[in-house]
Amino acid sequence: SSINPTIQQPVAAGEEEEEEVLSSEQYSCVSRQQLQIIRSSYSSSKPSPFLLSRLKEYEQRHKRCDPFSASFNRSSRELKPEEDEAENYCRYIVWTPVNGLGNRMLSISSSFLYALLTNRVLLVDFGPDMVDLFCEPFHNSTWFLPRDFTFKGRANTQLLRREEEQKKEMPYVASLLQLFLSYDNDDYDKLFYKSETQPLLKKVPWLVLRSDQYFAPYLFLMPCFRAELDRMFPDDKETVFHHLGRYLFSPSNQVWGHIIGFYDAYLAKADRRIGLQIRVFSLDKTPASLILSQVINCIQEESRITTTTTTASSSGRNRTTTTTAILVASLLGQFYTELNRMYKEWNEKAGATVVGVYRTNHEEMQVLGSSSHNMKALVDIYLLSMCDVLVTSPRSTFGYVAHGLAGLTPWILQSQDIEDEEQRVKEPACRRGVSKEPCLQFHANYYDTSPDHREAGGPVPVIMDCEDFQYGLKLV
Ligand code: GDP
Repeated sequence: SSINPTIQQPVAAGEEEEEEVLSSEQYSCVSRQQLQIIRSSYSSSKPSPFLLSRLKEYEQRHKRCDPFSASFNRSSRELKPEEDEAENYCRYIVWTPVNGLGNRMLSISSSFLYALLTNRVLLVDFGPDMVDLFCEPFHNSTWFLPRDFTFKGRANTQLLRREEEQKKEMPYVASLLQLFLSYDNDDYDKLFYKSETQPLLKKVPWLVLRSDQYFAPYLFLMPCFRAELDRMFPDDKETVFHHLGRYLFSPSNQVWGHIIGFYDAYLAKADRRIGLQIRVFSLDKTPASLILSQVINCIQEESRITTTTTTASSSGRNRTTTTTAILVASLLGQFYTELNRMYKEWNEKAGATVVGVYRTNHEEMQVLGSSSHNMKALVDIYLLSMCDVLVTSPRSTFGYVAHGLAGLTPWILQSQDIEDEEQRVKEPACRRGVSKEPCLQFHANYYDTSPDHREAGGPVPVIMDCEDFQYGLKLV
């Protein structure tokens, strides 16, 4: 039987197909079960009981307010600002896509955390390039915004600006507000990051978010959310994305077929799996040869590849071979080719296959709007997240998602720029990251920015500067 059900996007409530109930078979998600088994052998971090109870509560709310519900029907038809504070009034945050898949997964998980904190329901406006990537996260429900939902045109301006400008003379509450939390957001957009803006936002039933950022860390800096976040993540702030990402994202059966097929064939049997994520933003600034040397230095500097262990026995000396699988994830094919050649020679000298070098694909360039391209990207992200050691590229959200899902602190390659280094590899070639968390690259400065206040011992000891991004922030 097929393990590849296609989950239909719902149409808006009120239409004929509204009655259609999705069968539980359509929700069977093979990756969810299999990842749980694979991960149980190496993941020790567990979500707090409070977070689990909030997730359970969320699932009930999602079911009550989802696009098949009468509440959704009423709310989307009327699009009225909320007058009453009724407990079960449904409020939404609609996620819309910007930028690459790594950016998108980070902003989806941040939106979900915001939904948890503000009792909203997260719906996603996935285009054709994303609908086949993930299983539905919420059992017996859907997170897809109906295709014909027409917020476009109703919220095409920065309404926070209007709110701010009109506040003094005419208190005005919008029914639908578009939030921009992207790398190019302006001072009005950044008002979102002020605790004082939140009561206003609370009255708006529909928030439409356009963000490519992992803005979750900033929520910890906002006094209005801090107590609740401390209860959700009482000890370990560096597993926020780890838990939320694992909860939300399960590759669809179609994508999972590729992941598990590759994993079983090449990675599962190795004693050690090293994931190399090589993202090149500009070959003009950093030639491939320089990056390759850097990657090799990084692997060797830290002796991350243990090839053999020798044990003594009564009959003499026994050699026990430890095998290492290296997964090379990159848009560019040449890194795999070179590393494969290098380790083939190594294996010949060793007289055994001690290091295997593998890759799934090499797309050569980033493509926006392509489903098959995004599927390949997701395959790489998940295979990386199933490795034991990760070497990632600086500033890449693709790498952030991989190590966040893995729950690993990565080795981050140093930013390398030929203009200042004359093609010499910087030393050390890579550094251990400060945290398992992704970096929030662009944000607002509505908090005390002095280093003392961000590092351990200050009033917000859970946030530090990112290792790879100036002015970036991350949870530690
Ligand atoms: P970032 O640009 O590195 O921050 O990461 P994004 O994921 O936001 O955007 C880069 C996009 O390029 C990805 O979504 C993929 O479409 C593609 N890409 C980058 N690196 C890889 C890779 O290692 N494997 C595959 N298959 N695609 C990649």
